[in-house]
Amino acid sequence: MPFSNFIGNAETVKRLREMLTRGHLPPAVILAGAAGSGKYTLALMLAQAMNCLERRVPNGQKNEQWLFGIPLFGDGRGDAPSADTAELAKLPDYCGHCSNCKRIGLAADLETPFAEAVEAREALRETDKKETRILVQTHPDVLVIPPDPPQMMIKVDQVRHVIQSVHFRPSEAREKVYIFTSSAFMKEAANSLLKVLEEPPEFATSFLLTTNPGELLPTIRSRAMTFTLGALGPAEIESHLVKLRPEWDARQRALVARLSEGAMGRALSWDLETYVAARAQALTLLKSALGSSDHTDLFKTTEGFRPGAEGREKIDALLRTLYLLLEDLMSAQSGASQLVRNTDIAGELKKMAEAADFAWVQRAAVGLGDVERGLRRNLLRSLSLDSFVAALEPTA
Ligand SMILES: [Zn+2]
Repeated sequence: MPFSNFIGNAETVKRLREMLTRGHLPPAVILAGAAGSGKYTLALMLAQAMNCLERRVPNGQKNEQWLFGIPLFGDGRGDAPSADTAELAKLPDYCGHCSNCKRIGLAADLETPFAEAVEAREALRETDKKETRILVQTHPDVLVIPPDPPQMMIKVDQVRHVIQSVHFRPSEAREKVYIFTSSAFMKEAANSLLKVLEEPPEFATSFLLTTNPGELLPTIRSRAMTFTLGALGPAEIESHLVKLRPEWDARQRALVARLSEGAMGRALSWDLETYVAARAQALTLLKSALGSSDHTDLFKTTEGFRPGAEGREKIDALLRTLYLLLEDLMSAQSGASQLVRNTDIAGELKKMAEAADFAWVQRAAVGLGDVERGLRRNLLRSLSLDSFVAALEPTA
């Protein structure tokens, strides 16, 4: 029962599956949610469920009551299936191993085919380059439309490709599926998409994935049905990490569960090692600014931020971490210690929160804004960081 692999937002997933039971999905479905909330995973799962070949034939009823060959089973812990599980097992699902499921499933790793397509385009002559748009297709009837670099927006030629194919019946699937992985459309592209949605064929569904539905034209939104994937609680994420990230200990799982802000995908792809390294540097800076460590450590740290592309990523990670720590300090100061995300160093943060006052944390946040602006003007990174710390140090 592969839908059971989708973590969280059970009610939303159930509603979508119920719609499949009644026939098919609306021509346009907006899947909204934070980065890492599972929008793309869910869209692919639905595309598989719409086209799985192992699905039992409709039983002839007018409303197309599909029946699926899915055995009833519990949650794998050996107990009897609950009423809820039994009910869910009656809803459309996909097998994951038929040729449609397999080929659609290949698109799950979007990064590799995307990088390949971009690379192939780079190799073209300049004139051809302009006319080549990035699309990812692992099944003839399922097309993934990612934002096109370098602007990382969906462009009119990509939507034209959809317009050209959308009215042809699917060749190997029951339903055609288009997955737009971003809602950043160039103006002309958005207008073209609207044309598709105004007269959609009954055998095609477009999924529009977005972190911010407001980015889509109101006329597009009004023609689509919106489903939102909400944030999961830290406890829920933590419990899934026990199984999915057994290499992390309980403290690490608790930390990532809070840092991922309710998005399971973010939690699973969290680069803990890089984060902890960036945080150690951020702590050195803040402690030095609080006057509780000498400058040797500070200069050793800031010296590491040399110019160059790699250094840019490194300093971005440092700044993000500094903001996070300042927010944690504020939570600790205002007595809301349950909101502290860096739970594994809660004791250290508490001491720092006592050493600083609210105004200091605010000054530090403003100072970070200055550092960011300085970086945009290409000021030396190490100097910007040193002066950020110096401005916050207690005056004797
Ligand atoms: Zn299948």
